[in-house]
Amino acid sequence: MRRFTGDTLLIATHNEGKLEEIAHLLHPLGITVTSAKAHELPEPEETGTTFVENARIKAHAAAKATGLPALADDSGIEIDALDGAPGVYTADWAETPTGRDFVMAMTKTHERLVASGVRAPHTARFCCTLVLAWPDGHDEVFPGVMKGELVWPMRGDQGHGYDPIFQPEGYVTTFGEMDRDEKNRISHRADAFRKLVAALDR
Ligand code: IMP
Repeated sequence: MRRFTGDTLLIATHNEGKLEEIAHLLHPLGITVTSAKAHELPEPEETGTTFVENARIKAHAAAKATGLPALADDSGIEIDALDGAPGVYTADWAETPTGRDFVMAMTKTHERLVASGVRAPHTARFCCTLVLAWPDGHDEVFPGVMKGELVWPMRGDQGHGYDPIFQPEGYVTTFGEMDRDEKNRISHRADAFRKLVAALDR
């Protein structure tokens, strides 16, 4: 596995929240973080059909354009009874002409589960795939997963996205009811980041 030995890492996202979260995680390791936005990079089209494909598209586009190693992520939820949907289209299920509406997305998810005829428990997993790409075309992939089941009705107002209907394995609370620090310790994102940090030469 190639290790990251540099000082500066480009985070290939235009999402300020993600950038802040990742910068916060990397700061103690003495890594300076810059962003796709700071370099005025265009947002590449996410044409992949898997998390790793989309994360690769974003990471390689940024590394090639700037000559810096770049980190990108792609995440979403896979539901077994829906053959893995919404998967890479998790955010798309929330799109409306006036912005993202996750109550609508969770309601759609519930309706599709009812229509599937599959009985509970509705097993699912949150996935987060990180890709670290170098300008020479090499990359390393760090997949993170949190298994659980979908519940209905929604529970809790913490977190974001599909958190109120996802109950992680081994817990009686949804991500939406869970203390933020606890979620951040056990989440799919935490899993992927632990693997990334182990691969940083620090
Ligand atoms: P992307 O990674 O920015 O393409 O977005 C993935 C989508 O997956 C987000 O918009 C959320 O809807 C959903 N998602 C990813 N991680 C989480 C999570 O931890 N909780 C709830 N929803 C999530």
